[in-house]
Formats: sequence, structure tokens, C-alpha cells
Amino acid sequence: MHELSIAYSLVEIADEAARKAGAARVRTVHLRLGAMAGVVEDALRFSFPIAAGDTLVAGAELAIEPVAVQVFCDVCAQSRVLAAPFVFRCPVCEQPVFTLLQGREIQIESIEIEESKAESEKRLYETAHS
Ligand SMILES: [Zn+2]
Repeated sequence: MHELSIAYSLVEIADEAARKAGAARVRTVHLRLGAMAGVVEDALRFSFPIAAGDTLVAGAELAIEPVAVQVFCDVCAQSRVLAAPFVFRCPVCEQPVFTLLQGREIQIESIEIEESKAESEKRLYETAHS
């Protein structure tokens, strides 16, 4: 399954970023997903927790922001959003369009992390031994 390997890449990126930031865990991964990215959203949602395994991403939410397919129409000289992703005609003048501006992205926009729990763990330790 193609979505599982994408999920593994997303988890790897988020896990590494969280480790570098000294985070306790990842809370949410915000993803921009183009309508023409060739990804089945449900399959990606299903794969994500599997890929997260026991990394810092385990239990994190995958928040997907859908990105519409935007093209540039040479006839209108304007950018247009396609009504249906795979019909490459301008929705206004109905001429064929050749320039894709957006709609293929699989892009992590941001990662929400939980700060390190070292402080509260230390406190617990001190309480237990005093
Ligand atoms: Zn047009």
C-alpha cells in the first residue's frame, strides 16, 4: 500500500523534528494534501497510527487540509480552481489548460508538539523521596 510508505515518511519527519526540539511527544501533524497528489485520504489516515508505532508520533492526530487543484488559464490570463481535479479545462472559458499551479502537494505544514515532561517527572521523583 502506497499510503503506508507515505505515512512512514511523514512519521519520520515529525519524529525527527520533535526529537530535535526536545519534545515529549507529537500532538498533531498538519498536512496539506493536494487533490491530485494520488493519495487516498482514508488509507493515509488508517496508515498513520501504524507508521507512528512507538515513535514520538504515537497517538498524534493527523490533520489534513485539502488543497484544490489550481491551474493557470492562458486564455483568461488568470488562475482558476478546477471543479473536478482531472478535467483540464478552464471552468470559465472552457479552453484546455496546461499549467498546474497547485494540487499535487503532500506537505507537512506544521507539527504541534508537547514540551518535555522532565520538570513534572522530576517533581514526582522528589515528592516520592522526601
Ligand atoms: Zn479560461
